[in-house]
Amino acid sequence: MLRIAPQLKRPARRPAPAPSTRRATAAVKRALLWVILFAMPARTAPLPRGAASASAESLAIQPHVHAALDWFARNLSWINDEQARLTAIPAPPFQEAERAAAMKAVLSAAGLQVRIDSAGNVIGELRGARERELVLLSAHLDTVFPPGTDVRVRREKSRLLAPGISDNGAGLAALVALARSLHAAHLRPQRTILFVANVGEEGEGNLRGMRALVDDSAGRLKAVLVLDGAGTDHVSTKALASRRLEVVVTGPGGHSWSDFGLPNPINALVRGSVRFISTRVSPGPRTTFNLGEIHGGTSVNSIPHEARLKVDIRSESPDEIVRLEVALRECIAAGVRDELQAATRPSPGKLEWRLNVLGSRPGGEGRPDSPLLAALRSADEFLGNESRLERSSTDANIPLSEGIDAISIGAGGAGGGAHSLQEWYDPEGREMGLKRALLTLLGVSGVVPEKTK
Ligand SMILES: [Zn+2]
Repeated sequence: MLRIAPQLKRPARRPAPAPSTRRATAAVKRALLWVILFAMPARTAPLPRGAASASAESLAIQPHVHAALDWFARNLSWINDEQARLTAIPAPPFQEAERAAAMKAVLSAAGLQVRIDSAGNVIGELRGARERELVLLSAHLDTVFPPGTDVRVRREKSRLLAPGISDNGAGLAALVALARSLHAAHLRPQRTILFVANVGEEGEGNLRGMRALVDDSAGRLKAVLVLDGAGTDHVSTKALASRRLEVVVTGPGGHSWSDFGLPNPINALVRGSVRFISTRVSPGPRTTFNLGEIHGGTSVNSIPHEARLKVDIRSESPDEIVRLEVALRECIAAGVRDELQAATRPSPGKLEWRLNVLGSRPGGEGRPDSPLLAALRSADEFLGNESRLERSSTDANIPLSEGIDAISIGAGGAGGGAHSLQEWYDPEGREMGLKRALLTLLGVSGVVPEKTK
């Protein structure tokens, strides 16, 4: 995941009390809940039929939900170990199968019916009373790191260190922990919950795992809760649109000395790139571009026959993305023209260029009355957590672009150095993140009252 444009405005809520007051209020609330729990016959809160989600408070007083929430504190070191074990299995883009097999085993051990679909997604099903209505809880399997990267996990005091430990070792560990906690508590949801470890979130994976999941569950999918990275301080409700392009310039190639003066694809690409990087971008809607990779040539003393450039374009506005793609095409065409004009020898072959689309992530926004966001806010309120709304580029882009309720949140704890070899994760505070995710999930899935099971 990449969080791009934090929106500073907090969700509308009453003014936040000071942290100490907040802790005290939360403690009083918990104490009151225990009193209610023991003083009253078991009350149940099945999922309302309408759009509203069950509140975190009404969920937490149910014995099964309480047992599931309790499971986390007793299993924190097991969760750390699972995170380290899963992170140490390489999962480069398009090579997620080994980690997928490990996830299949661990989700099966959590009592789920598990299968791997044709895209490579691991899908563990917890059947609900309203079987055909689906709620999807997902964490992506893939990392940005190429094959051969050392992904062994080191521990320094409480910290875990490894490429991918947080993004998305933290999400995968949370997925497993939530499945185990519901299994241990014998909890049955109203709606069917799919626990999914999906492929293809990072880079050129182009969200293919989530695209397949949404395609395959057409019409049945009620909510998608994405777990990506660490933290409990944010919730992504808006999808940042992006487009990834590759420019390819080809030419005749030749000898650096004897063929000097022939048009050179690297020269053409550089000329075009220099034009493009001066393109003005709008500060609002926020728009960015990045020249991320450049390749070409075979030796220092050969005129290359090919040069390639990869460009990432993102914007809060789809129109700005189109504008920048048009600018890129014009600049490259001009760069090729300049290089041909500069050539001093008749070329035995043509200098040509083309543009390949590597990926296109649609944008989208959740509705303000989203039941999923209401469930998350209720969980935050119950747990005394503060979080801000964000726009980002995650697996939630796909359901959001199709009008399906979806948010992306962190899995708790703290992390840093995402997409770098120095990536780290600190499990301090993980329990709250897991409870937050569980209460949000159950808020939209609903829970079958104990006696009627
Ligand atoms: Zn991620």
